[in-house]
Amino acid sequence: MKEFNAPFRILMGPGPSDCDPRVLRAMSNSMVSHLDPAFVGVMDDVQTGLERVFETDSPLTLPISGTGTAGMETAMVNMIEPGDNVVVCTAGFFGDRMQTIAERAGGIVRRVEAPLGRAVEPDALRTAVEEHRPRVVAFVHVETSTGVSQPIEPLVDVLRGHDDVITIVDCVASLAGQPIDVRRNGLDFVYSGSQKCLSVPPGLAPITLSDKAIRRLDQRRNPVRSWYLDLSRLRTYWGAERRYHHTAPVSLVFALREALRLIADEGLRERFERHRTNHEALVAGLEAMGLEMFAGKDVRAWTVNTVVVPENVDEARVRGKLLARHGIEIVGGIEELKGRIWRIGLMGSSSLERNVLLFLGALDEILAEEGYQGPRGTGVTAAADRYRTA
Ligand SMILES: *Cc1c(COP(=O)(O)O)cnc(C)c1O
Repeated sequence: MKEFNAPFRILMGPGPSDCDPRVLRAMSNSMVSHLDPAFVGVMDDVQTGLERVFETDSPLTLPISGTGTAGMETAMVNMIEPGDNVVVCTAGFFGDRMQTIAERAGGIVRRVEAPLGRAVEPDALRTAVEEHRPRVVAFVHVETSTGVSQPIEPLVDVLRGHDDVITIVDCVASLAGQPIDVRRNGLDFVYSGSQKCLSVPPGLAPITLSDKAIRRLDQRRNPVRSWYLDLSRLRTYWGAERRYHHTAPVSLVFALREALRLIADEGLRERFERHRTNHEALVAGLEAMGLEMFAGKDVRAWTVNTVVVPENVDEARVRGKLLARHGIEIVGGIEELKGRIWRIGLMGSSSLERNVLLFLGALDEILAEEGYQGPRGTGVTAAADRYRTA
């Protein structure tokens, strides 16, 4: 077997995103144990840094060892007890996954659906809450399968006065890319993933719990069905006791610490603005090329952009050429949207002006080869204009 050298890619799919060299270097630190006094200091730093990124002062904020889905599963198995009524809002693939996991955790799930490309309507949630009387309401912030950003406030407003409801919010594709306002919105259990807008390799799922979510955990009548993801035990490792629970993925925690330093250097507001500007420039470019965005105009995410594949264009061939010729990865649609849309991520370290301009130029060339009849050369100009007037 020869040494493996990964090809150089520009990751513009819905995750993973590119990692800053500082983050990759942090992972090449010497191995220390997960209970080493030096590592305990790193854990403290990571928890403090995550609190800042979540914009919360929650007493329970930590990275789960596992990908974003492990964060989702942690939320469901800890907040739901068998027989609990649960409302899951779904606007696509990841909302559906929330429902599946909520049911496996024993929840009696009522589904509130939005058409693909749209967000869930507050009135639909209101009806479900009044009829189903849930103990838990779950929804996705940025639905990566459709590029829709669910407005959080209107959903939270519906839940005012329902003090017994715990909210579970999937922020895998938005944390450190778009504002979530965990504390101001009073969100109870928020989880994310390391490889999206945090730009850390996959393998960690940051979570944060409100006081109310912690009380729900403390008042459980049944033990959590998952041993590994049981927060009542896990919190003693990430809490003051630092009691062994499992061997933390030490190198990934180093990487997360460095990514949190990068975010602090940049400033969270500035980082959000960067994501917004690059999203707007990309959309300006795509629309100038005559392409149609998939997600509704008022609910477009800044981090995942979805574009309708023009008629008579082979979506997979276009992606193949982008990768082979330019090292650019974008991704197609999944499930019902397979073959119908492209998903273009601008997350974390991948959300760059130079990526937007390079991508638009490359797409322009490849679409022309593939027989697309729209205007040529207009995308880069429109995007560049957006940057100069921003
Ligand atoms: C990526 C993603 C997940 C799943 O994360 P994995 O790291 O693939 O397990 C869940 N929810 C959303 C919204 C995502 O974008």
